[in-house]
Amino acid sequence: MRKELNIHNFRDLLEHFPIRHIDKTNVGSIASLEQQDEYAYVAGTLLSLDLLGDGRAKRLVGKLKDNTGTIELVWFQGVHWVQKALLPGHSYLAFGKLGYFMGTPQIAHPDMEPYTPQKATGKKFLEPIYPSTEKLKARGLNGAALGKIMLEMLQKIQPKDLEENIPSFILNSYKLMGRFESNNQIHFPVSESSYQLALRRLKFEELFYAQMRINLIKLQRHRFSKGWLFDKVGDLFNTFYKNYLPFELTNAQKNVLKEIRKDTATGKQMNRLLQGDVGSGKTMVALLSMLIAADNQFQSVLMAPTEILAQQHFISITEYLKDLPVKVALLTGSTPTKKRREIMLGCADGSIQILLGTHAVIEDKVIFLHLGFAVIDEQHKFGVAQRSQLWKKNTLPPHILVMTATPIPRTLALTAYGDLDYSVMDELPPGRKPISTIHRFEQARPSVMDFIKEQVQAGRQAYIIYPLIEESSKVDYENLMKGYEEVKSFFPEPRYWISMVHGKQDSAMKEANMQRFVKGDTNIMVSTTVVEVGVNVPNASVMVIESAEKFGLSQLHQLRGRVGRGAEKSYCVLLTGQKLSRDARERLKIMVATNDGFKIAEKDLEIRGPGEIEGTRQSGALNFKLASIVADKVMLEVARSAVEKILENDPDLTLAENLLIKKFMQEQKHKTGWGKIA
Ligand code: ADP
Ligand code: MG
Repeated sequence: MRKELNIHNFRDLLEHFPIRHIDKTNVGSIASLEQQDEYAYVAGTLLSLDLLGDGRAKRLVGKLKDNTGTIELVWFQGVHWVQKALLPGHSYLAFGKLGYFMGTPQIAHPDMEPYTPQKATGKKFLEPIYPSTEKLKARGLNGAALGKIMLEMLQKIQPKDLEENIPSFILNSYKLMGRFESNNQIHFPVSESSYQLALRRLKFEELFYAQMRINLIKLQRHRFSKGWLFDKVGDLFNTFYKNYLPFELTNAQKNVLKEIRKDTATGKQMNRLLQGDVGSGKTMVALLSMLIAADNQFQSVLMAPTEILAQQHFISITEYLKDLPVKVALLTGSTPTKKRREIMLGCADGSIQILLGTHAVIEDKVIFLHLGFAVIDEQHKFGVAQRSQLWKKNTLPPHILVMTATPIPRTLALTAYGDLDYSVMDELPPGRKPISTIHRFEQARPSVMDFIKEQVQAGRQAYIIYPLIEESSKVDYENLMKGYEEVKSFFPEPRYWISMVHGKQDSAMKEANMQRFVKGDTNIMVSTTVVEVGVNVPNASVMVIESAEKFGLSQLHQLRGRVGRGAEKSYCVLLTGQKLSRDARERLKIMVATNDGFKIAEKDLEIRGPGEIEGTRQSGALNFKLASIVADKVMLEVARSAVEKILENDPDLTLAENLLIKKFMQEQKHKTGWGKIA
C-alpha cells in the first residue's frame, strides 16, 4: 500500500479521499426502480438461482422478489462461488448498477448481504468509493477493502487527534464545518449535502494553508532577509536615461522601475516577478535596473533561455551602452575556451559589470567579485532550482528579477510564485498596430504564400514556423525540410533569400542564419520554435505558423509576438489541417479573437488546467488534493485575503486566536517554510 498509493501513515490515509459515494441509505422497492437510476439497492427473497446458457454465454441468473416486484441478478464470473454462498428461499440485500434487459430490471454482479428485517432500513451513511490501483486490487485491497480500513481508523480517531486548525472567526464568517467533523464527513457523510459541506471546508483548509505558507515566506523575507543596499541612482543611469534612451518609457515601465528602485534601497533582498505581455518592453526595465546596480558598484547577470536570445540581448544592450563606460560580456555554452577564461577573469576581478548569457552564467565555475542583481528572462524555460543557484553567488543573495515569457493568470502566479513580489506591465509601447490573426486550412497555402510575396515586395520580412514537438523527432525534421523546399520553390533565389534555423544546427550556423535575417539580408525565416521567445526583428510583419493545431496557446501567442514590433501593420496566419480537436478549435478561436496575453493566459488555464501551464509545473504549491485553482478560484481569493489580513495584524501569529495556525504549521514542519522561520 505504501508504494502504490503513497500512503505511509494515518494522516496520508485520512487524506486518501473517496472519488465518489454510493447511496445505500435507503432500500427501495423493486417496483419503484426507474430506467434512469444508476444504482439499485433492494431487498427480497431469492426465488431461484439457475445456471443458464453454454460456453461463453454461460451465466448464473437469480430472481429476487419483494412484495412489489421481481428483479434479475446475473453473474458471468465467479459462478461457482456465488452458487455456494447464496441459498434460494433466503432473504438478501442486493446492491449494484442497474440495467434493463428486455424491459426487466437487472443487476450484474451485485453486492449481496443476508437480509434481516432490522437491516433493511439501510446504512447510516453514504459508502465511499476509493481510488485503488490494479496491483492493490490483485491483492484483494480494492476500494471496498480500503473503505473498511478507513472506517476502523475513523472510529478510533478522537476530536483531540484532529484539533481545529482554522481560527473560529474565519470558521464563523465563512460558515465552515469543523475539522474533525469534516474529516469524518468527507469519507462517510450522512448525506450528500453534508459531504458537500465537508468538501468545502477541506478545500478551504488546503487553500488557506498554501497561502499561509507562501505568504509567510514572503513576509519573512520582507522583514528579515538581508540584501544589498543600492542607495543611489548614479551617473550611469542618469546619463543613459537623459541622453541615450531611444524612446519615452511607458507608464507601466516607469512604475515597475520605481518598485525595483524601492525594493533595492531597503537593505532587504528583492525577489520580484515581472509579468508583462509579449513586446511590453521588459528588456529595457532589466537594463535600467542593471545600470542602477552598476552605479552602486555591483555586478549584474541576465540569464536568457536560449543562445539566440542571449546573443540578441548582447547585441542590443552593447549597442545601447556603446557610449557609456560599462563593460558587458556574453557567456554561453558555445563561447570558445579562451574567451570564456577571459570572461571568467573579468567577472572575478569585477571589471565586467553586466554579464549576459544562457544558464552558463550560473554555473559554479563562474565567480563574481560582487554580484548584486540577477535577471531571469523568459522564466518559463527555467526551473526553481536555477533560481536558487543564484543565491550562492555572493555572501548575500543578489536581488532577483524574474521576467515571464508570456503572462500567467494572476491566480496561478500568486499561488505558484506567491513568495515573490509581483509586478505587472499591462501596457504596450505606443504606436503598435494590433496584429491581425487569421486561421486558414492547408489548402489555402498558395494564397498565403502570395500574401507573403506582397509583403516581401513591400520590403517586409516573414517567419514560417514548423512544429517541433520533440527535439529528437525525425518526422518533425522531415516536415521542416519538406516545408523549406516548398518555400524555396515559391521564393526562388536570387530574387528572394531564405534563412533556416533549427535545433540540429550547431550554434554558429544557427547564429549566422539568424543574423542574416536580423540584418535583413534574408526575406524569410523558416524555422522551428527556436525563435519562439524574445527574438526581435521589427521589420518582420508576417508570422505563418504551420500545423498551428499542434501548438499550445501560450506558445502561439509567444510566436505571434515576434511580429508587430515595428511600425508596419502585421499579420499572423495559423495554418492547420482539416481535422481539428475541440480544444484545438478553441485555441485557434481565442488566438483570432484577441491579442491580449493576459486574456489568453486565463483561457489557457481553463482549457488545460494548472498542472500544464509552463513554468509552474514544478511548483509544489499547486499540488492540491481537493481544491482546484480553476474551479475554486473564488474560494482561493477568499482564503488569500483572509491570510493577508491575519498576517498584517499578527505577522508572528502570536495572538490567541491565531495560535492554532502556528501550532498546526509547526506540526507540519517538514511541509512548510516554518522550519526556516521559527
Ligand atoms: P518583451 O517584453 O517581450 O521582452 P522587448 O523588451 O523585447 O519586449 O521589447 C520589445 C520592443 O519594444 C523592442 O524593440 C524595444 O526596443 C521596444 N520598446 C521597449 N520599450 C519601449 C517604449 N517605451 N517605447 C517604444 N518602444 C519600446
Ligand atoms: Mg523579452
